[in-house]
This record gives sequence, structure tokens and C-alpha cells, in this order.
Amino acid sequence: MSGQRLVLGLLYPREMNLYGDRGNVLALTRRAERRGLRLDVVTIGLEAQASSLIPACSGFLIGGGQDLDQVMVAEDLVRSKGPALRTAISQGAPLLAVCAGFQLLGSHYLTQDGTAIPGLGLLPMHTVASSERLVGNLLLEADPGLGLRRPLLVGFENHSGRTELAPGLAPLGKVVRGRGNTGQSGFEGAWSGSVLGTYLHGPLLPKNPQLADWWLGAALSRAGEDPELPELDDSLEETARVEAIARTMHPDRAPRLRLLGRGLGPKGAG
Ligand code: GLN
Repeated sequence: MSGQRLVLGLLYPREMNLYGDRGNVLALTRRAERRGLRLDVVTIGLEAQASSLIPACSGFLIGGGQDLDQVMVAEDLVRSKGPALRTAISQGAPLLAVCAGFQLLGSHYLTQDGTAIPGLGLLPMHTVASSERLVGNLLLEADPGLGLRRPLLVGFENHSGRTELAPGLAPLGKVVRGRGNTGQSGFEGAWSGSVLGTYLHGPLLPKNPQLADWWLGAALSRAGEDPELPELDDSLEETARVEAIARTMHPDRAPRLRLLGRGLGPKGAG
């Protein structure tokens, strides 16, 4: 594994990047480096020739965006990038999609003004916009089928879309705090094989490094490498995650974050 090179295909970073989604790239890159892996990032934007770039990628990431951004990228995503993406995913390439990116994994997204934005149809689901936005901290318990070391996932949601999952499609998890896919279903996100979508912004991966490891494991497995990643000292990430969970569970409680380990924070705070 050491020295193995992986390539992250970052889809539409100019149009699809909200609420710090860019931080997901940094988290993936850093967690790869800490295992001696090299993660190169390739930007796959509106102008990119899909056929040439996508097959060379180990996996993909797409962030969130306003409805207008989704209208701009959807046509290109479905028509130009879709076929090569589908092939890569059928070979096990991971695709992690956040919010608007998640919505574009389904058959379509119907905006408030009645525009039907086409989706990739990778997951049997669709989204309908509503006048009331679902905004706030979000905490969920991940589907055990994902085998995450730490099942609680935490972050921030801000979407008008309500996403309906077809029967049989696994949600990413059960909502503990927050609104999730529809505000009522009690479920959040969805996943199938190496495709995973969520409404969790924040950014997602720095506070939920177990999902970054899910992506890296799938990318290694696709490269024919052992997907088992050596454990890292996640004390800092875990402190931030536990604090984010506590703030979501008790929004009125005053934050009391203490920096632990790796020589960070005021002298003697260790
Ligand atoms: N435009 C979509 C919605 O409002 C997604 C928003 C987002 O990515 N945060 O539902």
C-alpha cells in the first residue's frame, strides 16, 4: 500500500462547493498521506473531456450547490460525464456526493419553479423542492451495513429539496437530531455499493473521518490493493467530532472544546 498513488476526480468544484465542501478534499488528501498514500486531485469541470479524465480516477467527489448551479451542471453530468462515471462505478470506484450532488444521483430534482433537473439515476430516488428550507445541525446513526468504526455522523444541513428513496434503497442512516431527507422520514442520505450521498455539509469529512476512510478503502480495493487502512491517531478529529455531536444534541449548552494531543493548544493543555 505505501507509496500507492490514488486519483480523486473532483466534479465541478467551481459550481458545486458550498458550506466548506472543499474541506472534504483536504481531509481525503491528508488521511491518504498519513498512510503513505499519494492522492492526486483532478478537476472535472464543465469543459473537461470526460472520456479522457474519468477512467484514470480511483474515485469521485461532488459537493453542494444552489439550484441554479445544479441546472448548469446537470445536463453536462448526465450527457457528457455520465457514461464514463457509470463504468468507473461498476468497477467499484467510490462516489461521495454532498447535498445538491447527492440530489443529482437520483432520477431528477424538481425545483420550486417546476424545473425538472435531470439526475444520473445511479440511485433509485428523486427530490422535490419545497418552500421551507431544512437548515441546522444534523446528527445521524449510520447504517450498520457500512461497517463504520464510529456510526455517529455529524454535520450541517441546508436544503429545500425533499428526497424520497425508493423501497429497498438503504438510507445512509437514521436521523438522531435534525431533519434529514424529507424532514419527516427519519432517514438521511442513501448508499448502494460504492455510491454514497448525504445532506451533511460542514465540511463532512474532517468531522467524520470514518467516511474518508470508507472512500480510501473503496479506491484501494478498486486498484486491487488491500482496502484495510492502518489506524491513525484521530484524537484531534475525535475531539472535534464529539464536540460537534454534543452541540447538536444540546444546542443551548456552551461549547467547551479542549485541544488534545499532537502538541496543539496552549502550553500544558495536552
Ligand atoms: N439546491 C439544493 C436545495 O436547495 C441543494 C442545496 C445544497 O447543496 N446545500 O435543496
